[in-house]
Amino acid sequence: MSLRRAPNPNRNHPLYCPYCASENLFPDVETEFAWNCRECLRVFAVMFYGQNDPGQRPKASLSTADALKASLNHDLYQPH
Ligand SMILES: [Zn+2]
Repeated sequence: MSLRRAPNPNRNHPLYCPYCASENLFPDVETEFAWNCRECLRVFAVMFYGQNDPGQRPKASLSTADALKASLNHDLYQPH
């Protein structure tokens, strides 16, 4: 039996307190995401929710096999 709990993959590690900018931060037991600032004594949470899709994506390039085929057929390089 292990006493160590599984790590929380969504926990973020702030470098500075968002209220007083102190670096004297320690994890807090309030929630899985809570941090305790030992300078201003505030307890706050930092949580990563995910990442939005970008507004524009570059077109996918041809696979190696498709690029070779296009090259052998003397096609102009036009990614789909
Ligand atoms: Zn603080």
